[in-house]
Amino acid sequence: MARTKPCPLCGNAPSPEYKPFCSRGCRDRDMLKWLGEGYTIPVEANEDTDNRDAAYNGGLDSAEKPD
Ligand SMILES: [Zn+2]
Repeated sequence: MARTKPCPLCGNAPSPEYKPFCSRGCRDRDMLKWLGEGYTIPVEANEDTDNRDAAYNGGLDSAEKPD
């Protein structure tokens, strides 16, 4: 009997198609986890400029009356 490791995410029996995961869902979740870790750094760096931009636009918006 082959030694099969359980799915690293949920512990279910792995599917031969999505080894070592049990399903596409778990495989995708693992991939997103890695992508998410890579995204944290650039997103934090952008936040500063993004806030300034929002405040600037907000100021314009309140000064400009619809009618
Ligand atoms: Zn799983």
